[in-house]
Amino acid sequence: MKAVYYFGSGKADGKAEMKNLLGGKGANLAEMINLDIPVPPGLTITTEVCTYYYDNSYNFPSDLEEQVKNAINKIETVMGKTFGDPDNPLLLSVRSGARMSMPGMMETVLNVGLTSKTIPGLIKKTNNPRFVYDAYRRLIMMYSDVVMEKAAGLEPKEGHGIRHQLEAILDEYKAKNGYKSDIDLSGDDWKNISKDFKIRIKDVLGHEFPDNHYEQLWGGIKAVFQSWNGKRAISYRKIENIPGEWGTAVNVQAMVFGNTGDSSATGVAFTRNPATGENNFYGEWLQNAQGEDVVAGIRTPHPLNQSTKTEESKNLESLEEFLPDVYNQLDSIRQKLEKHYNDMQDIEFTIEEGRLWMLQTRSGKRTGAAAIKIAVDMVEEEMLSKQDAIIRVTPDQIDELLHPKLHVEDEGAATILARGLPAGPGGGVGQVVFSADDAEKWNKDGKTIILVREETSPEDVHGMHVAEAILTAKGGMTSHAALVARGWGKCCIVGCSSINIDFTKKEMMINDQAVKEGDWISMNGSKGTIYPGKIKLEPADPESNSSYKRLMSWADELRTLKIRTNADSPEDAKQAIEFGAQGIGLCRTEHMFFAPNRIIEMRKMILAEDMSKRREAVMNLLPFQREDFKGILKAMEGMPVTIRLLDPPLHEFITLDKPQIEELANELEISVSKVKNRINSLHELNPMLGHRGCRLGVAYPEITEMQARAIFEASAELTKEGIIVMPEVMIPLVGTSAEFDHQENLVREVASKVINETGTNFKYLVGTMIELPRACLTADEIAEKAEFFSFGTNDLTQTTYGFSRDDIGGFLPDYLEKNILSHDPFQSLDISGVGQLISLAVDKGKKVKKDLKIGICGEHGGDPNSINFCYQNGLDYVSCSPFRVPIARFSAAQAALKN
Ligand code: ADP
Ligand code: MG
Ligand code: MG
Repeated sequence: MKAVYYFGSGKADGKAEMKNLLGGKGANLAEMINLDIPVPPGLTITTEVCTYYYDNSYNFPSDLEEQVKNAINKIETVMGKTFGDPDNPLLLSVRSGARMSMPGMMETVLNVGLTSKTIPGLIKKTNNPRFVYDAYRRLIMMYSDVVMEKAAGLEPKEGHGIRHQLEAILDEYKAKNGYKSDIDLSGDDWKNISKDFKIRIKDVLGHEFPDNHYEQLWGGIKAVFQSWNGKRAISYRKIENIPGEWGTAVNVQAMVFGNTGDSSATGVAFTRNPATGENNFYGEWLQNAQGEDVVAGIRTPHPLNQSTKTEESKNLESLEEFLPDVYNQLDSIRQKLEKHYNDMQDIEFTIEEGRLWMLQTRSGKRTGAAAIKIAVDMVEEEMLSKQDAIIRVTPDQIDELLHPKLHVEDEGAATILARGLPAGPGGGVGQVVFSADDAEKWNKDGKTIILVREETSPEDVHGMHVAEAILTAKGGMTSHAALVARGWGKCCIVGCSSINIDFTKKEMMINDQAVKEGDWISMNGSKGTIYPGKIKLEPADPESNSSYKRLMSWADELRTLKIRTNADSPEDAKQAIEFGAQGIGLCRTEHMFFAPNRIIEMRKMILAEDMSKRREAVMNLLPFQREDFKGILKAMEGMPVTIRLLDPPLHEFITLDKPQIEELANELEISVSKVKNRINSLHELNPMLGHRGCRLGVAYPEITEMQARAIFEASAELTKEGIIVMPEVMIPLVGTSAEFDHQENLVREVASKVINETGTNFKYLVGTMIELPRACLTADEIAEKAEFFSFGTNDLTQTTYGFSRDDIGGFLPDYLEKNILSHDPFQSLDISGVGQLISLAVDKGKKVKKDLKIGICGEHGGDPNSINFCYQNGLDYVSCSPFRVPIARFSAAQAALKN
């Protein structure tokens, strides 16, 4: 088994396509070598070794050591240094890298190979003791944290980990000596600190920090593999749905040093702005520092160039100004990488004594707005086709643009509490909590929270996930919090230095103002501004974004599925048309009966003692219904409108308190006890499976007649006004063709009567909602008469699983936790179960009626995976809530392209 892939000096065993085997980092390091980009030589141990390691009780393949040694020999030749050599030692970094980038999840150890044997030689060779001891203390800190503590499975309480303890030693040392920044410390200072570090490590962890270069290397390699199954990695994988079997690769690479002095530096950058998508090189750098300093927010990073500068950072020197030649070289690498990958890249680099080295490239995380802009711009720049652009952007990223922002005027009127860096866009309003665990707890209690941290680390992801927004005191635009928030499209502000958090008191001071746990704050993540209290959120305005409009117009060209909306009022209908809806797939009629002037007639109807009284009450509702339908049919002029006849159990209308019962008895001129009796008689044990849907229309045909009359009279009146109407009458909850036929006859009779009475002519359809397994199984019989099917997948899921939709909260979390269900089947269609019934019904229906119109109108109509399934099964349209319409349009295009 080839377990080790070498890369270096113009030659690499691997390439970008080998991500599964080499992990993202390793594959891209190899690819950069292939592109003639300067990368320090190194080796990648494959993900197969990780799998082997776990399958063979933590043992490695027998020749792994040999293979690693051979590759290190090559590195030594290229670098002209030898690992462990006392005079001219090669130092290495040990870096993890899974297939998908998991920011910060897996740990890196730098400067491996510094020991009491190699330190003197390196000092002599570089004549730079400060650099050597700075590197050494970093090695000690990273190694003790990652290898000796985390990989060993130790889980100290928050704030008590070895890294924290060592940081405290460093802070104390700095305070004692009046040092402000790490830059102020001399070689002797670092040497002293290293000693203190090693003593503390022995004290706390019970072992010496290893003083042997091989022990350090293999400790590091093992730690990477161990960390694949660490708590944090597992929690991240769960959220992101990354299978545990993938494993991680390990990269061992020659160190290059950004901390040798003033002409050395390190930085991270994005080839385009990851927040806005603008085609500007965007990054941060630090002089005389090693890699992790920029991300960790230990010192305030400098802007890479003019276009990265902000109000806050405009006076800090950029790399463009300080080392223009190196900057230009970096900028040309930026262009080369973008051309090669045809995507925005997130890169890491180090400058050693004026010489540039690339240490990483990967596809950069970005906000939804940036994703859309970059994709559209790259089509214009002829880097992508329209199809590529559509596939590249995710429905979630579209969704982000549809998210609310702070109300502009209210925000303008509010006083700014503090400012930070705008790391994740949109508005966030919530109650402050200071730990990830509290975030989770408060969220479970149904609270909207904002997680405030000093800075975030992978330990915080579960809290970040449930937070409405994230706020940190430290860190830059490329910090952990910023990366994670951007990936999830969350409102996020980082580096808000005026915050001072007191974790024990659970409060923070912002410029002399105390904000306690539970206090409300509001954040504008696009500007980086924070306000006290609650500011109103206002709906998004995607139509003002020209890239979005272009991308959506391409999506509309490419999709074949039609998109309808679920709307019960003319206002909703208009909103949905603005979002691009092409019809109404579900207009529920029951909501119309709840208005105060109608509900009394409705109750009279329900409680009527005989048919004639019922008919009288029902007919009192007719004018109201007619006006409702007129409004909606008019708003949807020329587009189909599917109107569902009365569906819910009647008792929903007569859940009454005592005064209401008395009032009703009065109205009906019957006794209170009679009203009570009637209400009791309508009580059902399982209302969802009770007297509802078409069963109502069968028992009380006058309800169906009234509703049909209202629909057709509205249609007739509008037709007379010259408005084209396309009503589609939908019979709910049909389980047998006889039920359908019964209701259909009633509807058609009314239709011909109205057409005769009014002397008008308009087209209409009569069809059914398919929401019972029996309807799917007998779809051929139902299709004999039905002109359309619309899958009511909420009820169909409920009746297929036998899960009560309203009670699923009792066991669903457990089912998800134990992996008995992979997702909530009411949110994303259960393709293997419910999906089979749908496929069957489509087949059977179409066999009988080739041009049977078929759609879906459950919650699933706005879910990308479910939409893909609908496309595959040849549905004509999906119908979803107005706000999901853009996502449905976009997902429909993706479905057409992917299949
Ligand atoms: P992450 O996955 O957290 O980005 P990396 O493996 O990329 O972890 O390493 C963390 C930091 O260490 C990065 O900033 C990187 O630039 C730096 N680094 C890694 N390997 C080397 C090396 N061989 N020489 C110099 N710096 C390095
Ligand atoms: Mg990295
Ligand atoms: Mg239903």
